Amino acid sequence: MTIPSITPPATIGFIGLGNMGYPMAKLLAQAGYQLIVSDLNTEAVNKFCAETGALATTRLAELGQRSTVVITMLPDGKAVRKVLMEADGVVSGLQAGAILIDMSSSSPVDTRTLAQELQVRGFAMIDAPVSGGVVKAVSGGLAIMAGGDADTIAACQSLLEKLGKVFATGGSGSGHAMKAINNFLSATTLAITSEAIIAGEKFGLDPKVMIDIINASTGRSNSSEHKFPAFVLPRKFTSGFYLGLMAKDLRFAKALVDSVQDSNIFVDAISKLYDEAEARLGPMADNIDIHRYLEQRAGEDRA
Ligand code: NAD
Repeated sequence: MTIPSITPPATIGFIGLGNMGYPMAKLLAQAGYQLIVSDLNTEAVNKFCAETGALATTRLAELGQRSTVVITMLPDGKAVRKVLMEADGVVSGLQAGAILIDMSSSSPVDTRTLAQELQVRGFAMIDAPVSGGVVKAVSGGLAIMAGGDADTIAACQSLLEKLGKVFATGGSGSGHAMKAINNFLSATTLAITSEAIIAGEKFGLDPKVMIDIINASTGRSNSSEHKFPAFVLPRKFTSGFYLGLMAKDLRFAKALVDSVQDSNIFVDAISKLYDEAEARLGPMADNIDIHRYLEQRAGEDRA
């Protein structure tokens, strides 16, 4: 079945105006979509509506009833399930043919279950998590990993392209699986580059010189090329991506790897490291704070 493409001025319900959702929803408003938004943070909602003219509601059923597409950009799939499925939630108000897009980084397994439950009720849900951080959320340059029914993804293509580049990953949950895999690599390169730089510095090397050399050499990565110059070297631990969210993504990555193979060296270690860092620094520390956490641990080693 061909589903009509979602074009402006279709009404988009957007739930979750945090570090990522706010700039993403703003791009959709600027592209001519009608927005109806909701978030527990009323300050963010009021600011967003003042800036864009969007409607706000705390009544999720009303948001569902008015929307052609509902996008969730929440901490995880548990929050998504709550806003969609609770008694007066989004789904209770949805019109036939409405589409749900979860752009949060959620558990791939839970997403599959949720999408199946929604399908039984006659609604299509795709998972479309993103990578690129706040900078790419503002510029519309995100990588979007879309899992689910191909016709539904095609119908949402032009809408999603306002936010970034769309990669179809396969069936339901595959976008969330891809996102967990990406963040496994992203967190790992950050942590191992940190450990290397901390050790080199203790040996007497200059961190900035080390990063310049690594970026001209084979040890480079997105972490050395972007996160170190932008955040670690100037000691700005304000990337806009919380440590607790990264630790959550690594638990999803570990569960994914554990579900398909017994041999698992790195994902165990990296997930444990971020869990320990979260326990010490709290979930609202920045993910770049893994560097300070490793510095503390390196200091304690010889203390
Ligand atoms: P955030 O904590 O800044 O924003 C989450 C928002 O959801 C908050 O405004 C919060 O008030 C709202 N919220 C939470 N529960 C709610 C509920 N039940 N009803 C309504 N609103 C609710 O997080 P973020 O950084 O914007 O991340 C959102 C998602 O995107 C997460 O899954 C995260 O892992 C993922 N992500 C983040 C980044 C990043 O760089 N920050 C990058 C890629 C993906």
